[in-house]
Amino acid sequence: MTLNFAERVNVSFDGAGRLIGAWFDGVTFRRALDNRVLAKWSESPTPGHRHRRFLSTPGRKRVIERAYAYAFRVEEGLRQGTLLLEGTPPAVVRTVADRLERVKSWDWHRLEGERERFYRVYKPIPILPPDQYLALVLQMTEGCSYNRCTFCTFYRDRPFRIKGEEAFRQHILAVREFLGQGITTRRTIFLADANAVMVPQHRLLPLLRLVNELLPVGSPTVSHGEGARWDAHEGFRGIYAFLSAPDALRKTPEDFAAMRALNLRRVYVGLESGHDPLRAFILKQGSARDVLRAVETIKGGGVRVGIIFMAGIGGDRFREAHFRDTVALIQAMPLGRGDIVYVSPFVPSAEAPYVYDAAEAGIRALEPEEIRQEVRRFREALLPWARSHDVRLSHYDIREFLY
Ligand code: SF4
Repeated sequence: MTLNFAERVNVSFDGAGRLIGAWFDGVTFRRALDNRVLAKWSESPTPGHRHRRFLSTPGRKRVIERAYAYAFRVEEGLRQGTLLLEGTPPAVVRTVADRLERVKSWDWHRLEGERERFYRVYKPIPILPPDQYLALVLQMTEGCSYNRCTFCTFYRDRPFRIKGEEAFRQHILAVREFLGQGITTRRTIFLADANAVMVPQHRLLPLLRLVNELLPVGSPTVSHGEGARWDAHEGFRGIYAFLSAPDALRKTPEDFAAMRALNLRRVYVGLESGHDPLRAFILKQGSARDVLRAVETIKGGGVRVGIIFMAGIGGDRFREAHFRDTVALIQAMPLGRGDIVYVSPFVPSAEAPYVYDAAEAGIRALEPEEIRQEVRRFREALLPWARSHDVRLSHYDIREFLY
């Protein structure tokens, strides 16, 4: 539910009444399920000039309490009859009143308590593709089965493990219980962590069946009654996951067709670069050609693909070759409607081995403005191809992510 106040204030809540986002004073706030709050604002209309900051505890408290106060005013107005919803069907008014009742059940202390509940159910979720920010995450695996790419620190805190059927069942049930009615805000299912569907097929298919058994995937549940429709969850629109190219190549198109029959809709492959010497430098597994073959295999089974690459990685040393080979490789991929290519500006992590390797190799890191230039250059080179192939070309800033 989103409440909009004369285009000056926006507050959004999930189906259980937890704040998920707000906008006021020209600042966008996003609240994570563990009650962190990310503030985002821009002093310039140029894309890429956005500021972001996680708020301190007093800052979070102020934002959260102010957002709830806006909703409480509406609830009070409806209850006391001072707020009139002329021409609105009674069923809708009832639904709104019911949603506001749920919003009213939260306060700062209860929301703070969510952190502990969240970490009883989940390991930290460091990243999702942008079109999956509103997914329901299920950690079918934990960590990354490879975990050696030098620029990546997402899963360094945990060993890789595949959950058994019973452990995964308990996890799904715990996630359902944790989110409660908030689950209705989630539109798709994302299988985490990294490379989740690399799980050998004989173990993977029962796990995918379990997801379909415990959650309504792709099956509308309620069809009539306006209030009911407003409140209903229409079923998750498919299952999504990351997958590395070498892991995809351990499977066949028939394997992907079997996953598709169990509602796997798209897998996201981290290409990072189409230039093999740069891939080797960052210890990315497999060659550019392997990524091409992986895409062919996945698409051969009718599963869609999201390709992610990084603009600016490899600094000045690899700048031209990275651009040339990445554009050429992507244009050679059999992508079409439903597939996405993400251009992700490279954000070095101070703890990542890449930073030391690059300094040791005498590679000059690109300045933020140079990285923005590279993003523009990639977009301009790929846009005509993307349009003619009906492929979505999109921006992926990992600093925007919050679950
Ligand atoms: S980039 Fe992907 S494959 Fe590489 S270590 Fe990170 S999660 Fe694993």
